[in-house]
Amino acid sequence: MHALAYKGSLDLAADVLIIGGGPAGTWAALTASAKGAKVILVDKGYCGSSGATAPSGTGVWYVKPDQEFRDEAKASRFRLGGELAEHSWMDRVLQQTYENMNRLSILGYPFPVNEQGQPHRRGLQGPEYMKLMRKLIKKAGVKILDHSPALELLADEYGVAGATGVRTQTGELWSVQAGAVVIATGGCAFLSNALGCNVLTGDGYLFAAEAGASLSGMEFSNAYAISPTFSSVTKTAYYSYANFYFEDGTLIEGAGSKQGRTVIARHLQEGRQVYARLDKASEDLRPLLRVAQTNFFLPFDRMGIDPFTDAFPITLRLEGTVRGTGGIHITNTSCGTEVPGLYAAGDAATRELICGGFTGGGSHNAAWAMSSGSFAGEGLHNSP
Ligand SMILES: Cc1cc2nc3c(=O)[nH]c(=O)nc-3n(C[C@H](O)[C@H](O)[C@H](O)COP(=O)(O)OP(=O)(O)OC[C@H]3O[C@@H](n4cnc5c(N)ncnc54)[C@H](O)[C@@H]3O)c2cc1C
Repeated sequence: MHALAYKGSLDLAADVLIIGGGPAGTWAALTASAKGAKVILVDKGYCGSSGATAPSGTGVWYVKPDQEFRDEAKASRFRLGGELAEHSWMDRVLQQTYENMNRLSILGYPFPVNEQGQPHRRGLQGPEYMKLMRKLIKKAGVKILDHSPALELLADEYGVAGATGVRTQTGELWSVQAGAVVIATGGCAFLSNALGCNVLTGDGYLFAAEAGASLSGMEFSNAYAISPTFSSVTKTAYYSYANFYFEDGTLIEGAGSKQGRTVIARHLQEGRQVYARLDKASEDLRPLLRVAQTNFFLPFDRMGIDPFTDAFPITLRLEGTVRGTGGIHITNTSCGTEVPGLYAAGDAATRELICGGFTGGGSHNAAWAMSSGSFAGEGLHNSP
């Protein structure tokens, strides 16, 4: 951490500084400002289109408050995660996610409606979601500094006291003095070429470690996702409908998106090209898959490939802590860390609490981002 005496050209002060404007940062901003805090949010890119959620569609761990459904929802990932998750955290996140998703509906998110008129709230389209979140925090009076990566935290005798960075479009330095800082810089998928991950270089982990916070669960951060070789879209869920083949059309035994990714990795490592075809998706399902994740199909359409009938070459892209679980260690229910004044939310924070040693991809990470952001924003005034 840098001594507080450091001054940039743009010197600001706030009650709360939020570093990172993805779902975690914007929910933290919304809740903290609703509590009356003066909030500044800085983003390395543009809050609303930067980070892993903004260009994607995300499934969300949205489960109605029925005990049977909730117990069932917790049980599967609890087992997969080596029973390392904590029931109290899973309960909190399920409830907060349920509330936030319902709130999004009231605030104008266009959830699709089925034939019975019931809204489908188990997923969010990133562009619409993050556009709405930006609008909401601006309306709430949050000051946003886009294209303004944080480079270093500031310290005073009590702990963390703000941060400094640079405005990349002007070269001007900025500093924000703040009583509380929320690190919401996302995960780290450095040089992965995965969609939305160009800005996710693990800066927040470095800031936290420099300030004296510890990391947790980093042994669970080696997530790799399946992607066509010609695309950055890593929607591994769709490969549950795939068979995998060699160039001559031979089926690769044991290859799969869930259990058989190691088989794929081994063949790729040996220098053999692996191909996928989503031929397990039924004719009825195919149009629905298209609507659910439109950006998945864009690269195929551009190349004139029908992924349901044509085999296409695939690779594995590192998604690190964007889908793996490790991150900044959380020490209290407000997502505080060991360092006074320092909080962490979203992929920047460890998700072991709800995923154990298993990936948070598919639903849990999105739920964690909005819930942990809310917990941090809510708790800033209650924590020491
Ligand atoms: C293709 C894809 C599909 C996914 N699908 C799902 C899914 O279906 N379900 C699910 O649960 N999860 C899914 N995920 C994971 C999910 O997107 C993330 O868990 C979620 O985006 C985390 O939110 P966040 O706010 O923590 O981080 P992000 O959304 O990544 O936002 C981080 C923000 O921090 C900013 N930032 C970074 N460094 C700095 C810095 N130094 N200074 C200032 N700002 C900084 C970035 O610019 C960015 O705006 C998917 C991820 C990918 C890549």
